[in-house]
Amino acid sequence: MNRLVSLALAKALLSLAIMVYCAGSAWSEPMPGSLPAQWNVGAENCAASSQAPLQVHAYEPQTFILRQNPCANPEANFLYLLIGSQKALLIDTGAVADPNKMPLAQTVLSLLPVKDSVRLPLLVVHTHKHRDHYAGDGQFASLPNVKVVSPDLASVRAFFGFDHWPEGIAQLDLGDRRVDVVPTPGHESAHIAFYDERTALLFSGDFLMPGRLTLEDTAADQRSAARVIDFLASRPVTHILGGHIERDLAGHTYAEGATYHPNERPLELSREDLMKLPSALASFNGFYASHENYSITHPMHNLLAVLCAAFVLLSVLGFVSYRLLLSWRRRRLASS
Ligand SMILES: [Zn+2]
Ligand SMILES: [Zn+2]
Repeated sequence: MNRLVSLALAKALLSLAIMVYCAGSAWSEPMPGSLPAQWNVGAENCAASSQAPLQVHAYEPQTFILRQNPCANPEANFLYLLIGSQKALLIDTGAVADPNKMPLAQTVLSLLPVKDSVRLPLLVVHTHKHRDHYAGDGQFASLPNVKVVSPDLASVRAFFGFDHWPEGIAQLDLGDRRVDVVPTPGHESAHIAFYDERTALLFSGDFLMPGRLTLEDTAADQRSAARVIDFLASRPVTHILGGHIERDLAGHTYAEGATYHPNERPLELSREDLMKLPSALASFNGFYASHENYSITHPMHNLLAVLCAAFVLLSVLGFVSYRLLLSWRRRRLASS
């Protein structure tokens, strides 16, 4: 009899354990969301285009993706607004400063929940210190209940508490929503990526996006790729969302300054794209390499190569001119 009771008790405990495990799994499932198949892609004739300067897409009720139209600025940045219960987080302010051309602050404020006639406080951060990611900061500068973190390395280190930059992970608590901040220098020295636990989205800025991955420091970028892969190893990843789309569906890269992105490919990249990054960086020739969903370039190396080629060309031209002048003089002396 005792044995039967023990067996029944064990069965009950096992069922309870399974229930608790299943409930736990359900809690840890990322909040699902949607992405459009096609974003607003600008126009050949921007003056005749009726597209809004800023496209707002609700990925899910508390996550917004804002796309700046290629006609408003060819960089056509993607910005991200995450809403928590205590605070909202805006990642990047894009390429356009003028609120008349890009009503960014007005749009972001209109998306913030209002409780007891008080708007949710807003924290504005950046993936990195390139102007197309912080040009809109001025629109938020004097707004109440809004804090803007400067994109320079000293400010980023101080605000997030990175004592051993670029090592360590920082956390932001938006209220029932945690966002992890991972240092990712390489494209730019103060670059950071954001991982949202609610949606399992990684906001990767220009560190990883479907376009040109331009490098300032290849070795730092390699360490950043390893750091992000290591951080995400035990975490789900729904999508990796970067700062731009610079490629079409056929894999061609749009010309710099293009205000029209015909057949633009989707924004999202996957964990697989990230996993391929270390080998792509390891085999990088230092100048240019094209891969399935992105290309890698080192603008400073390319500039040096052009300068070296120009120097060699000018030296050869100078030498040939000198020899021609000498032989012309010799012929002239001989004939006189
Ligand atoms: Zn950049
Ligand atoms: Zn950028």
